[in-house]
Amino acid sequence: MNMVLENDELQDLYRELILDHARKPRNFRRLDDATHTAEGINPLCGDKLRLYLLIDANDTVVDAGFEGSGCAISMASASLLTETVTNISVADAEACFNTVTQRLTLGSSGDQAPHKIDLSKLRALDGVRQYPSRVKCATLAWHALHAAINSQSTATTE
Ligand code: ZN
Repeated sequence: MNMVLENDELQDLYRELILDHARKPRNFRRLDDATHTAEGINPLCGDKLRLYLLIDANDTVVDAGFEGSGCAISMASASLLTETVTNISVADAEACFNTVTQRLTLGSSGDQAPHKIDLSKLRALDGVRQYPSRVKCATLAWHALHAAINSQSTATTE
C-alpha cells in the first residue's frame, strides 16, 4: 500500500493502524438484533460487506457490527466505522458519513461532525485520496452506513 502523508512518522503510524484494523477487525460480527442493515459493494476491487446497526428509541446507535471480505483498506475502514458510530446519535453518525466521504473524495478539511466525536483515527484513511480506486474501498462502509440509516438495502460504489 502506497500512502503519502505529511511526514514519515505519521505515515508509519497510520499504516500500522490500518493494518492492525485489517488484521483484527473490531466488531466483526453479525448483529442478530440489528434494526438497520445495508450491504456495501465495490465491484472495482471486489469488496463486499454488510453493516449492522442497532438503533434504540432515542435514535442512538447502541451497537454496530459488520461482516464481509475485501481489501485491507475496506476492512480497516469498516472496523474504524463501527468503533466511531457506537454510542452516538443517528444524526451524528450521518454527520460522520458526510465528513469522511467529503474529506476522502474532495480533500475537504471541513469538519461537519460535532467536535465531541473523535475522528482523528480516521485520518489514517486520508492517504488514499490520491488513488481514486482506493477511495472507493475507504468510503464503502460509510456508504453502507448512510444506506442503512436511510433504510436502503444496498450501497454500491459504481
Ligand atoms: Zn478494496
